Amino acid sequence: MVGTRQVVVGAAIVRDGRVLACRRTAPPEAAGRWELPGGKVEPGEVPEAALVREVREELGCDIAVTSWLAAETTIGDRYVLRVAVAALVAGEPDPVEHDAVRWLGPDELGDVDWLDPDRPFLLPIAEWLETPNADPRPTLDTVTSVPDERLLLVHAHPDDETIQNGATMAKYVAMGRGVTLVTCTAGEMGEILVPELEHLAADREDGLGEHRRGELDDAMKELGVTDHRFLGGFGTYRDSGMQWHADGYAIPADETHQNAFWNADLREAADHLVAIIREIRPQVLLTYDQFGNYGHPDHIQAHRVATYAASLAAVPSYKPDLGEPWDIPKVYWSAMAESRFRATLKLLREAGDTETFSGMEPDADFGPFVTPDEHISARVDGSEYLDTKLAALARHRSQVETDGLFFRGSENGQSMWGEEFYRIAKGTPGPVGEDGWESDLFSGL
Ligand SMILES: [Zn+2]
Repeated sequence: MVGTRQVVVGAAIVRDGRVLACRRTAPPEAAGRWELPGGKVEPGEVPEAALVREVREELGCDIAVTSWLAAETTIGDRYVLRVAVAALVAGEPDPVEHDAVRWLGPDELGDVDWLDPDRPFLLPIAEWLETPNADPRPTLDTVTSVPDERLLLVHAHPDDETIQNGATMAKYVAMGRGVTLVTCTAGEMGEILVPELEHLAADREDGLGEHRRGELDDAMKELGVTDHRFLGGFGTYRDSGMQWHADGYAIPADETHQNAFWNADLREAADHLVAIIREIRPQVLLTYDQFGNYGHPDHIQAHRVATYAASLAAVPSYKPDLGEPWDIPKVYWSAMAESRFRATLKLLREAGDTETFSGMEPDADFGPFVTPDEHISARVDGSEYLDTKLAALARHRSQVETDGLFFRGSENGQSMWGEEFYRIAKGTPGPVGEDGWESDLFSGL
């Protein structure tokens, strides 16, 4: 437990199987001894950002934090030291506050006289260096500093993120916020709406998952999202498929694949997400409501996994090897606002469009498919990003008809896709506007 001690962070900067050590010049009792670069986390600063800042000040180079080592040590009775593995992303270490730097392989870590607080980290660092392919290899678009405000989205299939939250994602990226998407399955069982891709179907070549992985990559490029991952890694969980209940909502298919997400062990699936939550430390988590918006079993499972993982991630004694505890301040569920949905349907029908949401009339009872306005807590106006959202949606090519409802709906009732609505499931809403809703998911934090 950190308690009231101030956090000091150190960087194990790793390259070519070696770690960077720096020699101190002051104070006199530390001069000539070696340490990992780093320093104190300032009030209001996240540890990753402090580390990036300290290394830039001390060594004139930029790093990207890869992961935190599980150990921590105390320095006197005022400080606690945590160490992260990091990669160099720009510049070469050029000591300003130190008088020498050395790259040390796992067998050379004992060759220098380390300061005492760093010593407990030498064994985990040596183990890291000895792991094959352990070097963190940042891609070109690796961020060099961690944004102060970070959003984590948990979705079941590629395209759900764009349909439900695409405008919010594009807007927050444009605002410099961190946006991390976790997709739980590759959407292997999705309905293929493009005839020339039908050969990929599960009952033919079963190649849809790999194809949709590429579609998701392309869609995230449109939205500007650089951090997107599959839960447990690509292919860990498979799309469960679904069937329609006579009453118009989705239910599990009669038979599901062994790997189907619906059959996943809840704690095992949650653990994958706990590690990500503790790494990203998001202030806001977005996922589905308990009904998955329309009953899709994978949406319901994603809701369960996200909800469970958010709880577990906050418990300090729960699996410390998965990272430092993190309690996400605000959790939201995506929602379809009832008033907006009825208004859009009305516009469509008045315009003579009977195909979009066919069979649904503006005054019908939509059940849990929509959320009463009084249960909505936030409306993100992403109308400036509507074109971006639709461009991303078009990248999910196997799943959309470009003359389909999203595109028709956007011509006839723009507000339907440019505004995105949310229910708050954890945390306190921030200030609200005249409409009674928050306009920003981060408000009040
Ligand atoms: Zn879905």
